[in-house]
Amino acid sequence: MDLHDSEEEAEFRKEVSGFIADEAPKAGQGWGEAGAWFKKLAAKGWIAPNWPAEYGGAGLNVMKQFVLNEEMALRRAPRPGHLVIGLGMGGPTIINHGTEEQKKEFLPSIIKDLDIWCQGFSEPESGSDLASIKTKAVRDGDDWVINGSKIWTSFAHQAVWMIMIARTDADAPKHRGMSYFVLDMKSPGITVRPITDMGGGKLFNEVFFDNVRVPAKNMVGEENRGWYVATTTLDHERSAIGNTTGLRQQVDGLIEFAREHVKDHTSSLKTNPMIRYELADRMLETEMARMLSYRVITMQNRGEVPNHEASMLKLYTSELQQRIASTYMHLLGPYGQLGTGSPWAPANGRYGSAYVSAVSATIAGGTSEIQRGIIATRGLGLPKN
Ligand SMILES: Cc1cc2nc3c(=O)[nH]c(=O)nc-3n(C[C@H](O)[C@H](O)[C@H](O)COP(=O)(O)OP(=O)(O)OC[C@H]3O[C@@H](n4cnc5c(N)ncnc54)[C@H](O)[C@@H]3O)c2cc1C
Repeated sequence: MDLHDSEEEAEFRKEVSGFIADEAPKAGQGWGEAGAWFKKLAAKGWIAPNWPAEYGGAGLNVMKQFVLNEEMALRRAPRPGHLVIGLGMGGPTIINHGTEEQKKEFLPSIIKDLDIWCQGFSEPESGSDLASIKTKAVRDGDDWVINGSKIWTSFAHQAVWMIMIARTDADAPKHRGMSYFVLDMKSPGITVRPITDMGGGKLFNEVFFDNVRVPAKNMVGEENRGWYVATTTLDHERSAIGNTTGLRQQVDGLIEFAREHVKDHTSSLKTNPMIRYELADRMLETEMARMLSYRVITMQNRGEVPNHEASMLKLYTSELQQRIASTYMHLLGPYGQLGTGSPWAPANGRYGSAYVSAVSATIAGGTSEIQRGIIATRGLGLPKN
């Protein structure tokens, strides 16, 4: 594969880097500037670069997406991580399984309004064994009525829409008795209760449904076939989690930090020569992750849904995320443990928080054991037991 830019790609790279230089917020600017930046990205369709232009995307070919991602990473342009469920999971699932009416209703608004979406899949008794969900939906006239609860629902406290699965036939085999819905989070009967994570973050929630009505037209795919729609969402989720540009940004930041702080006590580069090897390994691994991500993006551009390929990417990048976090700690030494609020915390405690939050990377979106199972069975063709 020739990874050098063609003339057209080089031209596009110039356009992207110029746009980032002119429009992206500079280091130290606040979230308000980032919001304005996301709107500018959305206006160009670059917030959903592979979506068809008719739904507000940019319809970029795979090479131009690589260029866009690379430039965003190299120039440290902020990424809209809080929009990932709409842009990276719900939207692509609607593109794959939705009706034309659903595409027209939901896709342009994900991009134009920058709505936050959430994903109601996991339940207190159903995580890895997702097909065992108990939340149910019963048909009543033009609506379905939902009762039950979800847990670990990231962004539910801010979300405008939820993609969710509910049991619609209690007597059918578990994979064949559930349906997939897009639910308005303002619907009466929804209660959202935040959960604080071990790092003090308030990302995820419990969500309770008490006779919540969702119009039948908001069912995505066929009745009782929601499992197959949900697995498409999970494949897209694993592809999105595996977005390697953020990892590249982190490793670049770490190398810069090591160089800049070589004379003060916050970088152990001088006293611990092994750090050089670690940084070299992390850079090499980020490049490998990039190759896995190229494969996934190439498949998505062909209209295919990556499956075990997405699991490989998710598994590799989530474990890499944890190795990068360990390298932070080895480089920063005792200073790495200082959190936000400490006057001695390098980079305002960013590295300490990233170390704590990296723990969840191998759980969210399906655990590493589940990804290895998918790779073994669907990728390598090995029997299940
Ligand atoms: C940061 C974060 C954000 C999240 N956001 C969301 C969200 O927005 N929406 C949502 O629906 N969910 C979300 N989740 C939930 C996540 O999908 C589940 O935590 C995950 O699927 C694991 O399920 P569980 O927690 O019930 O663990 P369990 O399924 O109970 O697993 C416990 C342990 O057993 C292992 N195990 C289970 N089954 C097998 C098996 N068959 N083979 C081998 N090992 C196995 C697991 O690997 C794990 O180590 C989030 C989780 C995290 C950490």
